[in-house]
Order: sequence, then structure tokens, then C-alpha cells
Amino acid sequence: MQVARLDSLLVSALPNVQYLTGFTGSSGSLLLTPALASFFTDSRYDLQSHSEVKCAQVIIGKGDAVMAAARWGSAKQLGRVGYDSGALSVDQFGKLREVFAGAGSASKAKTRLVSAAGHVEALRMVKDADEIELIRKAVHLGSRCFEETLLLLKNGVTETELAAEIEYRMRLYGGEKTAFETIIAFGDRTALPHARPTSRRLKPNEFVLFDLGVILSGYCSDMTRTVFWGKAPAKAKAMYKAVLESQLASENSVRAGIDCGTVDRAARRVLEKRGFGRYFTHSTGHGLGIEVHENPRVAAKQSAVLEEGMAITIEPGAYIPGVGGVRIEDVVIVRKNHGEVLTQTAKSLLEL
Ligand code: ZN
Ligand code: ZN
Repeated sequence: MQVARLDSLLVSALPNVQYLTGFTGSSGSLLLTPALASFFTDSRYDLQSHSEVKCAQVIIGKGDAVMAAARWGSAKQLGRVGYDSGALSVDQFGKLREVFAGAGSASKAKTRLVSAAGHVEALRMVKDADEIELIRKAVHLGSRCFEETLLLLKNGVTETELAAEIEYRMRLYGGEKTAFETIIAFGDRTALPHARPTSRRLKPNEFVLFDLGVILSGYCSDMTRTVFWGKAPAKAKAMYKAVLESQLASENSVRAGIDCGTVDRAARRVLEKRGFGRYFTHSTGHGLGIEVHENPRVAAKQSAVLEEGMAITIEPGAYIPGVGGVRIEDVVIVRKNHGEVLTQTAKSLLEL
């Protein structure tokens, strides 16, 4: 708040609220002044918020938690109020301005709304040891769900059936929910980087791509594996080998002090050398934690520098329209001199 020259901060993005307070419900906001931290929610979360939120006074209001904070704060001297500009609707912002219009005008410290996007997100990038252990547990749970579901591959099984088997296991083993919509794709559909599972049935001799994530104890996992159902022809093997080599090169480049663009470059260079450069159509990875996509972005020309304790994914891929695609994704923790790969599932090409 000092760096951003804010007198107070209204946090409304739920992942930020969760990070700062521990609150896991679906409606909450946090108003910070140098002297006071106040958390707002509604009566549904009365008991829960009192047990989860230890760092702020809990105020049970009515309706929208952001507006409850604003109404409460409008009677105070808030000065320059930072707000989560990336996490307010246009409607909420309009109402916020109405509530604050004239607030504090009796004194010299008139309340002013200032965009404060990205400040809490910047704190969230570097994980502490407890957070890393939670991510590790989520990653191991993801691997278990994947490895068990792999045994259910058979001719005629559908993409949605496999997605259901994975998501059932996530819940069965204690996960809260999926971190994103599970991606399962067969054959030529593996060329769609974000394929949504369909009733397409598995046929012999095609790629199967799994991209799955689970939220466990508030933290996300994210993994991708591509396997071959049948005996892989030489072309498929060559594509898989290139993606794996690219993924390993990128993982091996990870360490504190290098920029994200360099990690992306390490992956891209291998695919270009192997003739698949133009089929690698997305960025190499992303930060993850409370949300599955967090900063930093591991993408071309990104100058953000990796710091010890950051959690990122490394997930290059190659996608040939009408033919198929391969992606391999792990979660990696940035350490001083290396990247610690949390994902334990094997990466050599499985021909099943
Ligand atoms: Zn993924
Ligand atoms: Zn990912």
C-alpha cells in the first residue's frame, strides 16, 4: 500500500481475499487501512468466516460483500482507496462510486478510488514452504487420478467417460473440485489445444491427450500427458520425441534469476529445430497456486524474472490440424539453481 501510495485497499477478487485471510467461501471482501483489517461476508458464512478469518475483524453484512465493505467504509476516512479493477463488474464499480461520492468530504481527506490491480497477485507469485507442500499434494493427487484412469482405456470408451472417471477420483480422494474443465481428446481432436470432451469413441492407433487439474486444500494442480492407443507409427513417435525433448529442455532451463522469455525460448528452440516450430501455437507455461492461471506468464519475450519459490507449469505442445497433437505438462518449483519438478508421472511415450 505504501509503494502504491494507497491509504486503504478494498480487495474483492476472491482468490486475493482467500490468500490474505484464509476465507474459502463464495462471497467475501477485505478492506484494509494502515490501522485496521475488516472482512465482509453475509450470514451464510457467519460460522465459517469466524473460524477461517483470523487476521481481520469479521463483519456480517447483507448482499454483495464489496458493497457492504464500501457502505461501512464510506463513513470512515479512507483517502485514496485501491480497488481490484480486474475483479469488479461495471455495475459494481458504478455503485462503488455512488457510495463513495461525497464520502469524507466533510474533512480534507476526500475518498478517491484508484485502480490497484496486480498488487496482491504479485505477492501470490512467490509461494512459501507451506503453499509448495499443498501444491505438491494436489499434483500427486492429479497424477494418481490420471494413472488410475489410464487403466480404463479401451476401444469404444468415450472422451466424456474418461473425464468422468478422472473427476470422480478427484472427489473420491478428497479434492474440492477440478481446477479447470478436464480436457480429454482422441485422435485428430488432440490437435485442439483446449478440446472439450465429447462422445467421440476411442479407436485403435490414435493419440489420447489428458490435461487435468484438481484443487486440494485450496491449491491447484495441472498436468498433461499424451499416450498412444496402439503401436505408434514413426511420425507420431517423432512428434512425441520432439515435444518431450522441448519440455525437458525448458524444465532444465528453470532457475532463479532467469527471465520467463528464456524458459519459453528453450522449449521453442527444440521444436523449431525438429520442424514443429509452427505447430507450437501457445505459450510454454504459467504460474499456478490458488488459481490455475497466475503470474508469471512463461511466454515469448516475457521479461519477468523467476524467483525462488515460484510455481510454474512447463507445457509445450505441437498440434497438426487434421492429424493430431502432443502436449506434456508438469508443475515446476523455481529453486535457486534448478527447477524442482513436482509431477512424478513418467513421460516416455506409452504405447498401450
Ligand atoms: Zn494443463
Ligand atoms: Zn497449464
